Amino acid sequence: MTLDPATLAWDKMDGLLPAIVQDAETDQVLMLGYMDRAALDATLADDLVTFFSRSKQRLWRKGETSGNVLRVVSVEADCDTDALLVRARPAGPTCHLGTTSCFGDEGAAGVGWLGTLERIVAERASASPDHSYTARLLADGPAKAAQKVGEEGVEVALAAVSRDQAGLTEEAADLLFHLLVTLRSRDVSLAAVVDVLRQRHLSQ
Ligand code: AMP
Ligand code: ZN
Ligand code: ZN
Ligand code: ZN
Repeated sequence: MTLDPATLAWDKMDGLLPAIVQDAETDQVLMLGYMDRAALDATLADDLVTFFSRSKQRLWRKGETSGNVLRVVSVEADCDTDALLVRARPAGPTCHLGTTSCFGDEGAAGVGWLGTLERIVAERASASPDHSYTARLLADGPAKAAQKVGEEGVEVALAAVSRDQAGLTEEAADLLFHLLVTLRSRDVSLAAVVDVLRQRHLSQ
């Protein structure tokens, strides 16, 4: 669905809509800014997030001095068109204090952390195998990680029938981690896996 800026509730909001920026990969909320019509037009024109800065009283492209731009994946309005949700890929830390998000740096909340972990796993591809277990797994190609998925899958199955909830939780974490490494080694994204699940549900 394409967003038509002309249909938004600019008048009701005195020309300024709040825009929540969310990491398109991890779903982490990165920051909140405000857009006037010109800022939204600029954002849509070049796919880089531009706000109206209330302190500077001018258009402000996020990253204009730091280089930490936000590349637009999608922009949508909420139910009554007075707020915007921007999904974006950040080029670097979004907060001027150096953190990934303006709302703390603990990584994405809830299950969104899996997306953060996916990114960390990908970064380990260039780490030294001497210092990183993940790097060692990736250096071996898919075979080693795939074998671990098999082992951890069996451990999950055993834990599900013979261990307490904490034991099952630990084994499920092992399985998910090795699954992420296996997907990374075959260049399959977690988003692609989740899309399959979503499509299966939607096509029912
Ligand atoms: P930048 O847009 O990243 O080049 O940063 C330029 C200036 O905008 C910074 O020095 C801050 O004053 C401000 N700024 C940058 N990022 C944020 C943010 N996430 N929230 C609020 N102000 C910011
Ligand atoms: Zn609303
Ligand atoms: Zn901030
Ligand atoms: Zn295990």
